[in-house]
Amino acid sequence: MIRRIDLRGRLAAGESLDYRTLVPRAPIDVEAALDAVRPICDDVRHRGLAAVKELTARFDGVELTDVRVPQDAIDSASERLDPRVRSALEESIRRARLVHGDQRRTDVTTTVVPGGTVTERWIPVERVGLYVPGGLAVYPSSVVMNVVPAQVAGVGSLAVASPPQRDTGLPHPTILAACALLGVTEVYAVGGAQALAMFAYGIQGTVEPVDLVTGPGNVYVAAAKRLLRGVVGIDAEAGPTEIAVLADDTADPRHVAADLISQAEHDPLAASVLVTDSEALADAVTAELDLRTKATKHDERVRTALSGEQSGIVLVDDLEQGLAVVDAYAAEHLEIQTRDAAAVAAKVKHAGAVFVGPWSPVSLGDYAAGSNHVLPTGGSARHSSGLSVQTFLRGVHVVHYDEAALRDIADDVRALANAEDLPAHGEAIAARFGDE
Ligand code: NAD
Repeated sequence: MIRRIDLRGRLAAGESLDYRTLVPRAPIDVEAALDAVRPICDDVRHRGLAAVKELTARFDGVELTDVRVPQDAIDSASERLDPRVRSALEESIRRARLVHGDQRRTDVTTTVVPGGTVTERWIPVERVGLYVPGGLAVYPSSVVMNVVPAQVAGVGSLAVASPPQRDTGLPHPTILAACALLGVTEVYAVGGAQALAMFAYGIQGTVEPVDLVTGPGNVYVAAAKRLLRGVVGIDAEAGPTEIAVLADDTADPRHVAADLISQAEHDPLAASVLVTDSEALADAVTAELDLRTKATKHDERVRTALSGEQSGIVLVDDLEQGLAVVDAYAAEHLEIQTRDAAAVAAKVKHAGAVFVGPWSPVSLGDYAAGSNHVLPTGGSARHSSGLSVQTFLRGVHVVHYDEAALRDIADDVRALANAEDLPAHGEAIAARFGDE
């Protein structure tokens, strides 16, 4: 069911291979979904609450009275949370706080010359809207992954949106309970593009607009972010999930197949890609995928994802070519299951996150490694990072020179200003020293 792309021998035959066009890619991409989300965002912008309610009825089958989730619903979801899930969420939060806390940047002051300093101050974004998916699956883990870095950064005002469930008209209770565990009180029962537009434009008297929206979601959520960029800040496009596994003949085919399926389970558009120099491994993984897909709960979704154009097994001559292929693919998640996995992983240039060796599966990172699971998809790992504390901070250069320090550099500033034919810049320096 999973297709194969055989690149072996083609370099030796003198072919020049453009790996970016040869790796599997989804036929429905963010660009294609833009047409679907543009009218949604426009509608929310112009008609506000009425549009959000109509769109929620259309896409989620829920007639909302209020978009805001009442505090007693959040509290009661927390009280009814299964103790096993509570303790797992608490551990996930603890580890995420540990990792993200260590990664907060500190202000740096450089003394350029005596009396002249430049400080980079990291200032939190004031208000953020955090998206938590909840269509095909529900993602309390994404509450943790969004909220922890925002809180570590020191964001003052923080709101969460997640689609309402048909039976309750509210986001899933475990999502609400995760909000309660993290102290989040502003939660909206709104999903998809309409949630992001609501955050971006605000709704008069109901929702204050935000400065930044973050969070993962399906292709419509990713498309809405692309469209709204500029109206608000966005994190990377974190759309339908992707896993690439770079493996050699030392990898266990059961682990590889299980990991490929674990991500295919997210979405029929999810991508699962194995890159290997071992045909025996490719055969064994194919057989395992067949067996495991039949036995897994979301078998239909998994089968669609694995047999789609976005998934495949790529056979390469050697690991060096394998690395070139995974770099071209720039996967959201990249597992290295090879000999000397850490050394191979150190050579990776493009990936949202790298999982090293047999005991670091993507599932661990999805929930409880301490790392963030909101990661760039669709090749955007070539230029973007996953969600982190930095996402919620802006670096502001604070320039402070005294008179002597400015006098010392005045001639250089004027020379450069004249070279750019912007003499008024030079005059602003000269005005201070009485030599206009
Ligand atoms: P979702 O909350 O992202 O999407 C549900 C919403 O999609 C609905 O509320 C609806 O408004 C909208 N929608 C559905 N069909 C539509 C259509 N035809 N036109 C316009 N809008 C439409 O939940 P989901 O669908 O379960 O998707 C979750 C996604 O999040 C998966 O693709 C998963 O892989 C991804 N994810 C990504 C990461 C990451 O970091 N990249 C992490 C976690 C989850």
